[in-house]
Amino acid sequence: MYVSYEKSWPKVDLHVHTSASDGNYDPDKIVRLAWEKGIRYLAITDHDTVGGIKTALAEGKKYPLEVIPGIEISTLAEESEVHILGYYIDYENPELKEFCARIKNARETRAQRIVDKLNHLGYQVSMDQVYEKAGPEVIGRPHIALALMDNGVVKSITDGFDKLLGYGKPGYVPRFKILPVTAVDIILKAGGIPVLAHPGLGFPKDMLPHLLQSGLKGIEVFHPDNSQEEKSYYLKKAKEFELIVTGGSDFHGHDKSDWKYFGHVRLEPKNLERLREESGKILCD
Ligand code: AMP
Ligand code: ZN
Ligand code: FE
Ligand code: FE
Repeated sequence: MYVSYEKSWPKVDLHVHTSASDGNYDPDKIVRLAWEKGIRYLAITDHDTVGGIKTALAEGKKYPLEVIPGIEISTLAEESEVHILGYYIDYENPELKEFCARIKNARETRAQRIVDKLNHLGYQVSMDQVYEKAGPEVIGRPHIALALMDNGVVKSITDGFDKLLGYGKPGYVPRFKILPVTAVDIILKAGGIPVLAHPGLGFPKDMLPHLLQSGLKGIEVFHPDNSQEEKSYYLKKAKEFELIVTGGSDFHGHDKSDWKYFGHVRLEPKNLERLREESGKILCD
């Protein structure tokens, strides 16, 4: 079965990154770009931070589009990277804020260890440079790649991952350990809807029942890194377990390739309604 959207469904992007994490554009700029692309529902889903949400919500009021406060939490299941999206979160929830603050620290420690490792191997890069790329919110490996680019060590962010920063490469340092169920729990406690991000990026399929038991409510079926087979598989799972189907471009805005999907994702309206209903938000249009 070829999985695609229908032209009558609204344009959405329920997965974008801003400069609060490793995106290239500030939150207000992302909202304007989304509006220009005709996107009706835009979720701000920065890695492990809610730092971009306030600005995006304020900007969203100026345009006929709905900004959904969200997050994407990076977790580890054994060796597999599992990312959990949270929608309609209370971004002022104290427990969530405390959780984010702890991860921010862990990310800084990890970045320092990566920089030390790279320096030890003879590659020029400093934490000051990385902080400059990252700004005041969370640090990610893309910021290290950008600093390495400035120093002429790598050609692009992808090149940085391929040569030095990706799993098993010379500058790789394992991630801080947060379990997928912990992320689901934090999102639920912050009044949000937990959704499995891009299962095509190495999600261990046999883990789904466990996550569903913990309160996972949806699957990101429409994501550039899900193959047709995976889309089809997870769409079937969504039907079987009555889960919400979501979709997004995972826009970061660093590369030309990011623009390929931004403004080209559509979702069946019932999924957007369910997201709002389950979060207790009142339908206003
Ligand atoms: P981190 O959060 O520090 O572990 O960095 C992971 C982030 O880096 C992901 O969310 C992607 O945005 C980006 N990333 C991961 N792999 C690659 C790659 N091969 N090329 C470019 N960006 C990547
Ligand atoms: Zn990212
Ligand atoms: Fe992700
Ligand atoms: Fe993402």
